[in-house]
Amino acid sequence: MTDLVTQVIKQGYISDIRDYKSDIRVVSVRLDLSEKLVFIPGQYVYLLIDGFAPRPYSIANLPGADVLEFHIRNTGFGLSRHIFEDMKPGDRIGVDGPHGQALYNAQKTGGDPVLLLAGGLGIAQLRSILMAALKNHNHVPVTLYWGVEYPDDLYLADDLKKLVAAHPQFSFIPVIRASDGGGDFRTGTLDTVLQADFENGSLHRHHCYVAGPPGMVHALYPVLLDKGMVPARFYCDLPV
Ligand SMILES: Cc1cc2nc3c(=O)[nH]c(=O)nc-3n(C[C@H](O)[C@H](O)[C@H](O)COP(=O)(O)OP(=O)(O)OC[C@H]3O[C@@H](n4cnc5c(N)ncnc54)[C@H](O)[C@@H]3O)c2cc1C
Repeated sequence: MTDLVTQVIKQGYISDIRDYKSDIRVVSVRLDLSEKLVFIPGQYVYLLIDGFAPRPYSIANLPGADVLEFHIRNTGFGLSRHIFEDMKPGDRIGVDGPHGQALYNAQKTGGDPVLLLAGGLGIAQLRSILMAALKNHNHVPVTLYWGVEYPDDLYLADDLKKLVAAHPQFSFIPVIRASDGGGDFRTGTLDTVLQADFENGSLHRHHCYVAGPPGMVHALYPVLLDKGMVPARFYCDLPV
């Protein structure tokens, strides 16, 4: 992964922790007064915490805010477990970045539609892009598909529904993978849902941002091409 901006290690502290689910928490990091992180929506940083190997986490909010927001799932191991079990507001934390190439560029997007495809915690990266797209282009159609295992995993669903109500050009389509957990939701994997929702060739103007597990990214890419996506309009930090 190539860096577009030279990264420097910044120091700060945890200013807030909000738990959304037993295994998902939103951690806000406020950099020290002398520090500033310039980043582009879609980028990530390595969180640096004493005693642990650095781990990359997407910046989930917009540039220019007082804090950096990270959405973290407790894997039960390593740094994420430490963040859940041992860390509290006030604890020191280092930030190395920004990194990443799946960047939202409002000028490049122009008036063309934006398609956001998130799997699981990939929503953290795409949330920053979504907020930027809604802020910069209030006339451009933005569609977010968010694939998760169970309805309970849609921890941002209420916030996203509010955005739908406030922005008529924004559509949010949650997709539940577990066949028995669907209820009123679309079910299946994101690639099968996209197959059904788009005609061949219909994505030729879309800018497509994908964030999630490698298996999901690999399954989506050929479908997006079939549907007409121009490869230069595919944005993802994982190789396809
Ligand atoms: C570009 C990028 C952005 C990312 N953004 C986010 C984000 O926004 N939010 C987020 O939550 N994550 C994100 N990740 C993932 C994150 O960087 C970490 O990989 C993740 O949090 C796990 O790190 P860890 O130190 O907690 O666990 P690790 O110790 O690295 O363990 C990871 C996995 O290895 C296995 N494992 C480890 N130790 C054992 C063991 N002893 N026995 C059995 N299995 C074991 C487990 O399956 C575990 O889930 C991102 C990754 C990348 C590459």
